Amino acid sequence: MNDPRNDTAGDTRLDWDALADEVFRTEVRAWLQANCPERVRFPAGRMHWHECRDWWDMLYRKGWIAPAWPTALGGMGLSPFKQIIMVEELERHGCGRMPDQGITQVGPILIRYGTPAQKAWFLPRTLSGEAIWCQGYSEPNAGSDLASLQTTAVEDGDDYVIDGSKIWTTLAMDATHMYLLARTDRGGRKQEGISFLLLDMRAPGITVRPIRNIAGDDEFCQVFFDGVRTPKDNLVGVPGQGWTIAKSLLGFERLGIGSPRRPQLAFARLEKLARARGLFADPVFMERFTALRLDIVDLSAAYEVFVEQVRRSEPLGPDVSLLKIWATETMQRCSELMLDAGDEYGALGGDIDVDGTPMNVLAPFYSSRPGTIYGGSNEIQRNILAKAVLGLPQ
Ligand SMILES: Cc1cc2nc3c(=O)[nH]c(=O)nc-3n(C[C@H](O)[C@H](O)[C@H](O)COP(=O)(O)OP(=O)(O)OC[C@H]3O[C@@H](n4cnc5c(N)ncnc54)[C@H](O)[C@@H]3O)c2cc1C
Repeated sequence: MNDPRNDTAGDTRLDWDALADEVFRTEVRAWLQANCPERVRFPAGRMHWHECRDWWDMLYRKGWIAPAWPTALGGMGLSPFKQIIMVEELERHGCGRMPDQGITQVGPILIRYGTPAQKAWFLPRTLSGEAIWCQGYSEPNAGSDLASLQTTAVEDGDDYVIDGSKIWTTLAMDATHMYLLARTDRGGRKQEGISFLLLDMRAPGITVRPIRNIAGDDEFCQVFFDGVRTPKDNLVGVPGQGWTIAKSLLGFERLGIGSPRRPQLAFARLEKLARARGLFADPVFMERFTALRLDIVDLSAAYEVFVEQVRRSEPLGPDVSLLKIWATETMQRCSELMLDAGDEYGALGGDIDVDGTPMNVLAPFYSSRPGTIYGGSNEIQRNILAKAVLGLPQ
């Protein structure tokens, strides 16, 4: 008899969350190995929509595009711990990140704060990839100090009229929609005047200007709003609730960025490169290599402590910031040692052949740079640890 789990059209009827953890992990691993197209594995940077659309469609048809969403809304209904397993397996397989902010950010926000009409319109389109979202939070003078944002949304009839600019908006050129924070009130505490709005990127008055990143790719954009109208029905929550809504997702994000999987994979590549180039005979290299290995082991142990917390359904505290710092800085050191190990190849873009394995020596260096900036910069994470964990004076 056919295993229903091989029937890609019918998987949404399966209760994935009911499977034992290790059975679930095995299922996910096997399916990824059998189905994930080679070209979306280990991409050098963020994938654009046209590069991963068919992979999105495959996950959507499988019913796996939204692990955290309830099954009634088209998700997998996974517990937080099973979501971690899913992410770990995707990372282990090297599946590149898609333009997934609708799934990871807007979906959970609408499920919690959206009106019935917003849920009915946006959630199915977000799952199917008809609505691709970008995040409009940061502005030229409001990044770490996000509450200083100046983009305004002024009520006018049935609409809000938006003026201002957002910057570093990842993949805005691919997005059909933006979720943004805009100032709807200038009185009171600056956090209290911020609202959370949804916006169709085809609305008149929007200009999207791509910005090249360090690797020369158009990964993010500056977006300008000149009298852009969005219906009042696209306000999420109530006016002034934007800050609370935006903050509601942050703890879990830090656990994701703090996963040891990326440094582990990069380290395995470094090991292969070092072996091929005979570097294990060099004591200076060995010292750096060993220190890095121990850091990754420690990072994995710390990560497991937080994962166990999630498994026990306990909320994550401010101490999760240490994972974000540790993982991103370890990844950067790993990529720097890779450059050194690659010698002259470290200056080349593109793959080199390392004992039959194609390897891009430079790409991890580029792709690990922004990790210490986004998701709340590492200096800000250190401030959180100093204040909320160590109780140090301001
Ligand atoms: C690859 C990438 C993708 C991004 N994608 C998006 C996106 O899709 N949408 C979006 O809205 N934003 C996005 N961002 C923006 C990101 O959130 C901001 O870059 C980040 O919040 C930092 O803000 P900033 O760049 O304005 O730097 P600033 O806040 O100006 O900081 C500059 C430096 O000063 C330090 N600093 C600032 N304040 C303090 C303090 N109080 N104490 C100690 N040090 C401090 C910072 O750590 C940093 O080193 C992205 C950024 C990157 C790199």
